[in-house]
This record gives sequence, C-alpha cells and structure tokens, in this order.
Amino acid sequence: MSMSAQSAASRYGKSLAGCMHHARVAGDEPLQWTALHAPVLVLNASYEPINVCAARRAIILVLKGVAMMEEANGHYLHAARIAMHVPSVIRLLEYRRIPHQTRALSRKNILLRDRNTCQYCGKILAAGELTLDHVIPRSRGGASTWENLVACCHSCNRRKGNLLPHESSMKLMREPRAFNLHTSRHIMRMMGRSDSKWRKYLFY
Ligand SMILES: [Zn+2]
Repeated sequence: MSMSAQSAASRYGKSLAGCMHHARVAGDEPLQWTALHAPVLVLNASYEPINVCAARRAIILVLKGVAMMEEANGHYLHAARIAMHVPSVIRLLEYRRIPHQTRALSRKNILLRDRNTCQYCGKILAAGELTLDHVIPRSRGGASTWENLVACCHSCNRRKGNLLPHESSMKLMREPRAFNLHTSRHIMRMMGRSDSKWRKYLFY
C-alpha cells in the first residue's frame, strides 16, 4: 500500500470509528450483544488463529486493508458511507510474528484468562462489573503479576479487603497462571463452540 493510500485508510478508519457509533445493524435474529460488539476470530495470514476482537475493530481492519473477511456473521452493517457484512472471522493480509510465550499483563488479558468470572464466587460478569484482586494484597507485599492477580467482583473484593485468602476463608476457584498460547487457544476454542464458523479455523 502506498503512503498516501495508507494515510487515507487511516483517516478513513478514524472517521469510521466515529460514525460507527451511529451505525445501524440489520439482522434477522435478536442479539444479546449488539452485532458490533460480537467477537470476531482474527487469523494470521497463515490461517493460524491469533486473537479475538470485537466486530467493530474487525470492520475497521478490513476497511483499512489490513485484513480480509473470511466469514460473515449474518448481520449487515449500514453506516453513513458503508454497507457491508459484519465479519465473524477475518484474516490479516500480512503475516505477523506473534510472541506466543509472553502476553502483556493487562486488565483485559487477566479478565480473558479468567473468562470474566469472579475467581472467588464464580459469578460471570461484564468487564465493567469486575475488578482485579491482588491475591496477596499489595499492602502485604503482593506483586502485580499473572500469579497474583485475578478477576474479582466488587462485592468479593470488598469482603476480602486486605486479608489473605485463608484469613478471609475465601477460596480461589483455581490457581492463577500466566496466560500463554495454550490458554488463549483454549479460550478461542471455548468461544468457538458458540460460533460454528470458527471451528474449521480453530481445530486445524
Ligand atoms: Zn465474587
């Protein structure tokens, strides 16, 4: 892609991101999530599954020419200057090296690892209703690491306070581990159960 095409695409991506707040999505079935937030499987150019992103982000990648749609999710997007199928699977046009062993320690990745499940009471909640809990509280020397951070609902977080799990008699559902490729493949497989179009890419 030439420089000018690239900057045009980037400008387009930006204006798209703005106008998509007002986009309408037509579909024949009611959705719990709006179609623009539905998960989209992202494949590397080699067809290897590497990520899951929201449909809105996937559409921007397709319009910028970074990725192409491999599967549609059955919904259709009508926005100011865009009419296109909402993707279910996209593939990057250029191969990207993905550092599999290390993933950024981030709130998003911790919630993904813990599948948006409070690790104390087991409630599955929206990301906004979860917080991160330091298993060994920071005030008692606990570090911010994969092994010491878990997804936690606000009420369990308040209950636990500055106590160690055994002091508050709150048991962790499972031992927190670093997020590795195995974990992310596992998550993609779990999510793929709800979308038959993902299967052929996940069990390769
Ligand atoms: Zn909880």
